[in-house]
Amino acid sequence: MPTATLTGVCPECETDLTVPPVTPGETLSCPECVLTLRVEAVEDGRLTLEMVEVQLRDWGQ
Ligand SMILES: [Zn+2]
Repeated sequence: MPTATLTGVCPECETDLTVPPVTPGETLSCPECVLTLRVEAVEDGRLTLEMVEVQLRDWGQ
């Protein structure tokens, strides 16, 4: 069944997140812990999320 939303789990507070369709590389904020999360991958409607260290200036390659 196709779904208009994607789901993921915050890596910090483990809150279940339901978000509109996003693409890898986009960022979103966890409503619970207010961390910025980056979408690493989208697979079968599930998001792989990575914490973004906002204070980090050198993102490397
Ligand atoms: Zn969170």
